[in-house]
Amino acid sequence: MEKIEHIGIAVKNLKISNETFTGILGIESYKTEEIESEGVKTSFFNTGPNKIELLEATKKDSPIARFIEKKGEGIHHIAFAVKDIYQEVERLKKQGYTPLSSEPKKGADNKLVVFLHPKQTNGVLIELCMEREDGKK
Ligand code: ZN
Repeated sequence: MEKIEHIGIAVKNLKISNETFTGILGIESYKTEEIESEGVKTSFFNTGPNKIELLEATKKDSPIARFIEKKGEGIHHIAFAVKDIYQEVERLKKQGYTPLSSEPKKGADNKLVVFLHPKQTNGVLIELCMEREDGKK
């Protein structure tokens, strides 16, 4: 694995939190994107080598909605950049980890992503992400 790519924060209201984080970080969000299949709307801030991803649920039964219901707003996941996501998934499977999806899927910000369940990772949802080749313009 390479660096921490971003930290995901679950928020109730993306518009309000965008303003909060713009104020804190002194920069504007560079991208807002809805991932319909995940029932989530995201907003990204580029804070140097790492990013902040804000996540708001767009459906009542989406993972972010359930997270906020259980734990309230806060840090939702830590994402690590990887060079070859398929190879990393194989490596982790050999160690007994069960990714939440059998295959990496399209995530926000032009990434292929896969998650490891917090049950196996000391309570922290871990995302592996890799830049998608086909998404380059
Ligand atoms: Zn993420």
